[in-house]
Amino acid sequence: MRQQIAAANWKMNLTYQQGEQLLDVLLKEAIALKDHQRAVFAVPFPYLIMATQKLDGKKGYAVSAQNCSDKKSGAYTGEVAAEMLKSINIPYCVLGHSERREYFGEDNLTLAQKVLLCLENNITPIFCCGEPLHIREANAQQEFVATQLKESLFGLADDAIRKIVIAYEPIWAIGTGRTASAAQAQEMHKHIREFLTAKYGASTANEIPILYGGSVKGANASELFGCSDVDGGLVGGASLNASEFASIIRALK
Ligand code: PEP
Repeated sequence: MRQQIAAANWKMNLTYQQGEQLLDVLLKEAIALKDHQRAVFAVPFPYLIMATQKLDGKKGYAVSAQNCSDKKSGAYTGEVAAEMLKSINIPYCVLGHSERREYFGEDNLTLAQKVLLCLENNITPIFCCGEPLHIREANAQQEFVATQLKESLFGLADDAIRKIVIAYEPIWAIGTGRTASAAQAQEMHKHIREFLTAKYGASTANEIPILYGGSVKGANASELFGCSDVDGGLVGGASLNASEFASIIRALK
């Protein structure tokens, strides 16, 4: 079965101590993950080692960075290179979150560089895509997301694209409390999978997890994750509450 992933995105929230406590409380729930399930925690850079130590030896639990540089190394004050993440054994990195695109000017071509650097360092990119409200209102979301995927990912060879996780996050649903309906999520996920199939073939497209992001909570996770092309979620607000995120992990197929 395709991997099913509940990914927490803490963004720029929680102190170090609050982060430790959240992981402690969550791990006390002792949710046993099946072989194909993952619970991933995208924490701020200074917490990566702490989170790695807490999750060490817990089957299916892993840590993610929230971003990395599009440069390999050098005089780029304040940046963090994929190679640095590899050197502390970080297995995942969120790339192209809409907040990075909007507030830090990241475009599809810059993201293509970040994807390559992550893959070179054996880090799985959790690649975010998704349309703003005016694009959805113009019913142009499929073309918009297709362009994001094409420009950032479709330069990859077949064996490289298989290492990617995609997160479809309609921007109008992020942090707004306005979730896409299960039908809207499934429709876009199916479209993304068809678009992957057209480029890479069905067997590759069927292996790539596509997560949904946008106001996922304990109360709606089962319905969303129940859709055949939705392979879990990337979760912001609700991941800051241990019991809420625990219900989301439990909702994985
Ligand atoms: C996100 O940050 O990726 C996200 C989906 O946020 P939220 O769950 O708060 O909408």
